[in-house]
Amino acid sequence: MIYTIAYSTISIVILLNFFEMGGEMIDKILNYKNLTKIEIANLKKKIMQSNDAQLMFLYLYFIDHEHLEDISIKMLKTGNLRYIHFLLRSFKVTNYASIIEYILINTNDAKYLYNILYDVDYLDNNCRLQIINKIITLNDNKYLLKAIYYYFVILNLYDEKLFDKLQTLCQNVFTVTLNKDNYKSILDNLVHQKIVDPKGFSPNYYEGRNGHIPHLIVCHINNTYASAIDHFYDEKSQVSSHYVIRQDGHIKQVVSLDNSAWANGTSLNENSDVYYKFSSSPLISDVKDNANYFTFSIEHESFDGYLTNEQINSSIKVMKEIIQYLKDKYNYDFPIDREHIIGHNEINPLVRTKCPGSKFPFDEIIRQLKS
Ligand SMILES: [Zn+2]
Repeated sequence: MIYTIAYSTISIVILLNFFEMGGEMIDKILNYKNLTKIEIANLKKKIMQSNDAQLMFLYLYFIDHEHLEDISIKMLKTGNLRYIHFLLRSFKVTNYASIIEYILINTNDAKYLYNILYDVDYLDNNCRLQIINKIITLNDNKYLLKAIYYYFVILNLYDEKLFDKLQTLCQNVFTVTLNKDNYKSILDNLVHQKIVDPKGFSPNYYEGRNGHIPHLIVCHINNTYASAIDHFYDEKSQVSSHYVIRQDGHIKQVVSLDNSAWANGTSLNENSDVYYKFSSSPLISDVKDNANYFTFSIEHESFDGYLTNEQINSSIKVMKEIIQYLKDKYNYDFPIDREHIIGHNEINPLVRTKCPGSKFPFDEIIRQLKS
């Protein structure tokens, strides 16, 4: 009995210690420049003993990229698949093959697997095929098609066995006949399903701007126009954007410019993955409020940030409308530069590493906007 009490007292002490640790530790990680070398070493020791994948990831992300391999092994031991995903997409992990192996054994979530395939752009083709093959076994056609489209069309890879599987799948499930001349366009049609634009605005927004003059335009990508519209008009999804621009340049406004869309929120809670101080832009990390209140969001249909000419023209058209709106409503001259026209990844760098993607034509858009 005495032993039990003593034991539980120790547990409570440890628990309390941990409890106060999370937030305090994150603060220390973000302000590590004020710490001495010894203090950083102690911080690392504490984090590595904590079994807390989030803290390990933050430590790696903000302070110490050098011990990537050691820390990734520690992170794998926590079994926290969410942060293992964060790890893989933020860093080029050399032992990724064994991590993928672990993931394939430990999850049956097709969406998670697709996200690994999509977010981790340095995987070798063998790993990619293993992931796609696992998704095939899961019978989730939405992510299966996206995964195969990503492999054949976006990555421009080819695999005979995968082609055969796709051919059978198309015959049995989608009742289309697929051959080597038409497979890319058939995949394109299956993935980019047509959708009728809903009337009016989305129910997902905050009224007004919480006292801010919105001063940033944020660029996003979404794999397909249909999935963006589906999501943005679904009350349960809790997401939206001011505009969505389809590959053919069609523009759909989803939220009024007077209101705040739910596209790139930041949190004041330091334990959140979208803590405002994580932002790489001082125009965000210096403002202690949800970034949705002072931003405009434009979503573009794209897998990697590549935009068609029609999309570039539409994006510029929409940005001009926003700039004029700011002049009319707030007498604010919007500065046309890279500090004020930013990517989602600059606001939520931990969770949105691939939005709007490496091919997004910021310079071209800014150049044309200025002229
Ligand atoms: Zn985004």
